[in-house]
Amino acid sequence: MDSVVQGRALMGEKGAGLAAERFGVVDMPELEYTDEVARETAHLYERVAHHIPEIEWPVHAPYVHAINKLKKERNAVILAHNYMTPEIFHCVADVAGDSLQLAMEANKVDADIIVQCGVHFMAETSKLLSPEKTVLIPDMRAGCSLAESITGADIRLLREAHPGVPVVTYVNTSADVKAESDICCTSSNAVRVVESFESDTVFLIPDEYLAQNVAKQTSKKILTWKGHCEVHERFTADELLAYKEADPAIQIVAHPECPPEVVEVSDFSGSTSGMIDFAVGQKAGSKVLLVTECSMASNIEKEAKGVEFIKPCNLCPHMKRITLPKILDSLVYMRQEVDVDPVVAEKARQAVERMVNLKTN
Ligand code: SF4
Repeated sequence: MDSVVQGRALMGEKGAGLAAERFGVVDMPELEYTDEVARETAHLYERVAHHIPEIEWPVHAPYVHAINKLKKERNAVILAHNYMTPEIFHCVADVAGDSLQLAMEANKVDADIIVQCGVHFMAETSKLLSPEKTVLIPDMRAGCSLAESITGADIRLLREAHPGVPVVTYVNTSADVKAESDICCTSSNAVRVVESFESDTVFLIPDEYLAQNVAKQTSKKILTWKGHCEVHERFTADELLAYKEADPAIQIVAHPECPPEVVEVSDFSGSTSGMIDFAVGQKAGSKVLLVTECSMASNIEKEAKGVEFIKPCNLCPHMKRITLPKILDSLVYMRQEVDVDPVVAEKARQAVERMVNLKTN
């Protein structure tokens, strides 16, 4: 375990004690696949039947049943990223979406507790926008290669070396990094955020590939950092061209965290919600290859009726740390709590809010 993750795990243990003191712990529910559990989860199984064989449902159903019951008793909501597995995304999530949608919903939901089914920076963002709520993450080790590529101290050094250049940071960063930034952005609004500055030169960090892809859509000079998403950087243009050669009808849809040469050979590039809109908008019989984490195609298959998804499977090991048993543990024992130093939180919140306000202006 690296020191950043180890530090978070220790903070989580400390936080678990505080959240447990505030809310109390409850007994772990029985996890039997009874007739009652089968009956009460039958409508949820229909949502995932195309992915989870019937024989496996008795393993998931007791957790789904217990989580849904306990979240009501706790007045908790579950926010789930598009990369969660289908049994989380379709069966226990109250709100599902990309990082921007989840950040905005965190602000609005009426609940005492948020259980963030995603990675650590997402839980921090929820805490920044809803400081009065208790934010739990089912596994404190759920990190992100992009978020861990840069620190607040790195940004201070960049500012010293390039005085006056505005700093835009991707939301996939720690609160410490957001706090040192002028504004945040997501992959869906990065061009707009960069162009909101009068300066000819703008830092867009830490994702080097997102920055290179954005640089092609603006006249601003973009300076960046060498951070990469370990899921999207693995795709190659040659691999995608081979799919196209095998079947020219396949439409390739790439996330802008992919290398520019991958985006270039794609038919469309957009944020995860942009990719979903594209796929859902295709007519039945279309073939779509989503160049992103492979759970997303599974999660939208039902919505994109009749679309055939080709799945080159790249999993995010951090997202996949979040499982039904760990979500249940969070709700039973009130762990692991994500907190942010109030001074850092105030500055980071301003960077996120500037982005949110820019989107709705
Ligand atoms: S998919 Fe990439 S950007 Fe998203 S959490 Fe995983 S490593 Fe980070």
